[in-house]
Amino acid sequence: KHLNSAQVRRMYLDFFIQHGHTEMPSASLVPVDDPTLLWINSGVATMKKYFDGEVVPKNPRMTSSQKSIRTNDIENVGKTARHHTMFEMLGNFSVGDYFKKEVIPWAWELLTSDEWFGFDPEKLYVTYYPKDNDAHRCWLEAGVAEDHLLANQDNFWDIGQGPSGPDTEIFYDRGQEMNNVPEDDPENYPGGENERYLEIWNIVFSQFNHTPEDTYEPLPHKNIDTGMGLERVVSIFENAPTNFETDLFMPLIKQTEEFSGVKKYGVDKDDDVFFKIIADHIRTITFAISDGALPSNVGRGYVIRRLLRRAVVAGKKLGIDKPFLYKLVPTVGKIMESYYPDVLKNADYIASVIKSEEERFNTTLNGGLSLLNDVIEKAKADGSNKIDGKTAFKLYDTYGFPIELTKEYAADEGLSVDEAGFEAAMTEQQNRARKARDIDNGMGVQTDVWTEFKEPSKYVGYTDLEVQNAKVI
Ligand code: ATP
Ligand code: MG
Ligand code: MG
Ligand code: MG
Repeated sequence: KHLNSAQVRRMYLDFFIQHGHTEMPSASLVPVDDPTLLWINSGVATMKKYFDGEVVPKNPRMTSSQKSIRTNDIENVGKTARHHTMFEMLGNFSVGDYFKKEVIPWAWELLTSDEWFGFDPEKLYVTYYPKDNDAHRCWLEAGVAEDHLLANQDNFWDIGQGPSGPDTEIFYDRGQEMNNVPEDDPENYPGGENERYLEIWNIVFSQFNHTPEDTYEPLPHKNIDTGMGLERVVSIFENAPTNFETDLFMPLIKQTEEFSGVKKYGVDKDDDVFFKIIADHIRTITFAISDGALPSNVGRGYVIRRLLRRAVVAGKKLGIDKPFLYKLVPTVGKIMESYYPDVLKNADYIASVIKSEEERFNTTLNGGLSLLNDVIEKAKADGSNKIDGKTAFKLYDTYGFPIELTKEYAADEGLSVDEAGFEAAMTEQQNRARKARDIDNGMGVQTDVWTEFKEPSKYVGYTDLEVQNAKVI
């Protein structure tokens, strides 16, 4: 079966609409009335008011394709086959309505029925929490083979306090030829660090309240919260080696090839990472600006600024020296038009914001280059063959110069960079930032501090929820 991204999204939503769900719109990436969260990072992040009982939904069954930003995955982009900074999370939610014995057979039907996704059950693996006999039984009854059903202690959703419970995850076996680790590697299992078993869906049985006293009390209402990565499922349908060789990203990569003129996608592994970073980041930046955020030095704006700078530097690696990201905006708009018509409508505005930010950053980069040239001259005059770590850090911190860039320029002049000194300066800076940072947002949490491009006196730390299974033992 071959489905494109619009068809996969539609099919998922239609399946749950047929099962009595109301389709909710993809909410703004900028959280509404939720100061604890920097970005919407999952479907359930938009459902908090229903899950905690503050608002009673018209229909306790809801489904959505929710655009989500996860800053914790920034470094993964282009390195793994499956991570983005912005992705769409397909989800179905039950607020005190259905539970395991409904959601599990539905999940299996959607995944394997020829009428729906039609995946080969041989390719699917399911993990569940070891003590969760109900889930185990429901999966067997739904038709999962016993040897494709694996107990895993990690399958417990717990963010420290509040709703928690066991969960179950579904993986697609892409085959050993897609793997980045040998078959006998200890990480080579569904849920391990590998590129073979692709996590496509996470289903949470939210049934306990994790109390401040560290006990687990049954919740009055049992909820279902699920999340399926649209881009990952599309990569399966389009038989793509990574999420990027799909209709969601290829037009952006093709256009970037034209801007480069010299580099082609699919020739060199390192270059491919740069293509992927550009395609990923421009999507995120475009959507974030469309939803009302703007580049700046703090909070959300800082995320946009950092992503944009990473994309500009990636462009330089591909030989692109002029502002180019802004020209990709209409392409993002067209790719996403069927479900997100606003982006194309806002394209001119978004492009103008991005263009001036690109121009600004190019100027900063040039400032950094002139400092770097001075330092290189001085090092040569002193007969030194090294750029000291403090200078490398200043280039990074003040001028947004990634260490790789400094190393490359230095190498062209026959110099090396004191990387240990750079790391030490970085650690010192992070320790300062850590002290200033507000750690707990009450949702139990992924904390993340970006020190890059920071103006020294400004607070840039922030907290950001990563939805993730906590280790139980
Ligand atoms: P992974 O282990 O691959 O990082 P996760 O367990 O952190 O994923 P969940 O929090 O369970 O992800 O989110 C639900 C689903 O959303 C995942 O099963 C996956 O399909 C998708 N997903 C999560 N993070 C990303 C991302 N950064 N880019 C694309 N899809 C993602
Ligand atoms: Mg996971
Ligand atoms: Mg998961
Ligand atoms: Mg993750």
